[in-house]
Amino acid sequence: MKIFITRPIPQVGVQKLKDKGYEVVVNEAAKERAATLDELKEGAKGADAILSVLTDKITTEVMDAGLPTLKIVANFAVGFDNIDISTAKQRNIMVTNTPEVLTETVAEHTFALMMAIAHRIPEADRFARAGKFTAWGPELLLGTDLREKTLGIIGLGRIGSRVAYHAVKGFEMRVLYTDPKPNPDFEKEFGAIYVASIDELLPQCDFVSLHVPLLEPTHHLINEERLKKMKPSAYLINTSRGPIVDEKALAQALKNGVIKGAALDVFEFEPEISPELKELDNVVMTPHIASATIGTRSKMAELAANNIIEALEGRTPPNLVK
Ligand code: NAD
Repeated sequence: MKIFITRPIPQVGVQKLKDKGYEVVVNEAAKERAATLDELKEGAKGADAILSVLTDKITTEVMDAGLPTLKIVANFAVGFDNIDISTAKQRNIMVTNTPEVLTETVAEHTFALMMAIAHRIPEADRFARAGKFTAWGPELLLGTDLREKTLGIIGLGRIGSRVAYHAVKGFEMRVLYTDPKPNPDFEKEFGAIYVASIDELLPQCDFVSLHVPLLEPTHHLINEERLKKMKPSAYLINTSRGPIVDEKALAQALKNGVIKGAALDVFEFEPEISPELKELDNVVMTPHIASATIGTRSKMAELAANNIIEALEGRTPPNLVK
């Protein structure tokens, strides 16, 4: 069996596959960049499995290069918008992801971003480093408290519900949420309030946090019109996927005071970031690292490898997405 890994991942996952006696080919050239189409097609040739990461588009062309041997594409991510699911279905290729193991880390990162923008941490850090701290001041760099504020969660799935949990338990926030699948048990346990539509939710929130998958209906879910529905004092947090927000409209809204601030881990045209956003002080940015802890990335590597092993040994992989 040949396994092609599109970019280097934590060794524990590679070793798990090698221990099975598989031939494991890691595309070492793509350590600090996305794999190229040629590398993906070349690696797919004769492969029984591809272990892909989210920067690498597993298109029809790539999957066809892997036929007739290719049986599974195991993504090293919970989102799988980089894989052409309909082609995989047509070609009878299994697709898996890595849910659960990263939920807590992404929820923590969401809070790190929320607190960083509300308490102006990076801005204050820049201020201190620039030698501008000449005296303590009663009105120096005033921020916003999280406690008792209203947090709107868009997508109360695994990560969204964990963010809501921390908000209620840790910060006594009021939580509103919208999701095509309401969760009455969660409402009962944490006092979260279901709101039928995003347009109804936005004007009520001090913080809005996005936790939906990137699908056709969620592309530009937050656009110019919806940004105008938010309070001028509100903050937008995005740790889901960049194209869920119209980045150009967001930069304008931040510049013109339509909303107060944004904290972003993901960008519409990664790895590019709009130059307008980079110039603004009311934005905090991290380079798509919400799941990036040593422990979590190792667990993701193990889980992706395990999905491959299960599939190649003829069992249903635990994280089959189609
Ligand atoms: P999940 O499937 O458990 O939750 C997604 C939720 O969104 C579901 O409850 C679903 O019903 C809801 N939803 C779908 N469409 C919606 C809509 N139009 N409006 C409101 N809700 C909608 O997934 P998860 O494990 O919580 O992950 C969520 C997303 O976070 C992933 O799809 C991925 O893209 C992103 N993610 C990003 C990072 C990162 O590094 N920044 C890491 C992990 C996950």
